[in-house]
Amino acid sequence: TDIKELLLSRIRDVEDYPEQGVMFKDITPLLADPAAFTALTDALAEVAERTGATKVVGLEARGFILGAPVALRAGLGFIPVRKAGKLPGATLRQSYELEYGSAEIEVHAEDLSAGDRVMVVDDVLATGGTAEASLQLIRRAGAEVAGIAVLMELGFLGGRARLEPALRGAPLEAV
Ligand code: 5GP
Repeated sequence: TDIKELLLSRIRDVEDYPEQGVMFKDITPLLADPAAFTALTDALAEVAERTGATKVVGLEARGFILGAPVALRAGLGFIPVRKAGKLPGATLRQSYELEYGSAEIEVHAEDLSAGDRVMVVDDVLATGGTAEASLQLIRRAGAEVAGIAVLMELGFLGGRARLEPALRGAPLEAV
């Protein structure tokens, strides 16, 4: 579609970042273009509305930039999922495996509860590790998963396959 072409044209490929052999998808040109940023916000908000989400979770850090306007556009609250150690209140913490080692993310425990249907927003789905851990956090808080919505999916990294069991039938949508 035209929107998809507009969005893809505003993503910059950066070679060898953050390390040799990696092609990084840089979304800062998209954020700097208000027509593209608005189109992306609308597309992600449409997923939130269609899936009956009642809250939007954004994954640090680009998921904050995208998730906040999506939440407002859809008329929903925004909940940050942060790298461990950044949230001041009582948290739930989830660790997950990286290629080398592991990482931990957190959410404020009081931000999610039974009765919530949560949509996760991020810019890029890579290995899916972060997204998978966020689904575990949402369920541990007693909430339901409405789905995951991202700008783009790096198919060759197998994120969708990794996430499949954790999605339990909820949609994973790339714009
Ligand atoms: P994961 O491997 O857990 O799916 O990705 C980890 C985090 O790194 C995610 O929040 C994802 O958005 C980010 N990430 C991984 N690769 C890229 C990339 O090429 N471009 C951007 N913008 N983010 C990336």
